[in-house]
Amino acid sequence: MPTLAHKIGSLIFCPHCGTLLSPPRDDEKTVICEQCSYEEPASSYENIEITTRSHPEAFPSALRQKRKTQTKVHQGKVLPKVSEKCPACGHLEAFYEEKQMRSADEGSTILYTCVSCKHGWRVNN
Ligand SMILES: [Zn+2]
Ligand SMILES: [Zn+2]
Repeated sequence: MPTLAHKIGSLIFCPHCGTLLSPPRDDEKTVICEQCSYEEPASSYENIEITTRSHPEAFPSALRQKRKTQTKVHQGKVLPKVSEKCPACGHLEAFYEEKQMRSADEGSTILYTCVSCKHGWRVNN
């Protein structure tokens, strides 16, 4: 059994001379100590990466909050999309918005806005 290097957080130190070892490049199988030529298997670094990634606290909460804010902004603006042919450009997707008319027997009016050219038109129910 070879002596394994000392690990502190995500850093690996040479077990013989205590030198900080640099992480392996993509295809490297071992990390060689610059001071004493000790070889540390690159797999030691893989284990460290897995541990770090499975830790949800590693991601800053600021990032999650930013994503939440963006979703909120979108919900206020974006209307549901439906398959409707635009009479102006022939595009087959339009934003859909239903407007209730004042009296009940007038029914409702569907407002469409073309996703492609922003042309708007309405259809009475
Ligand atoms: Zn060393
Ligand atoms: Zn259009």
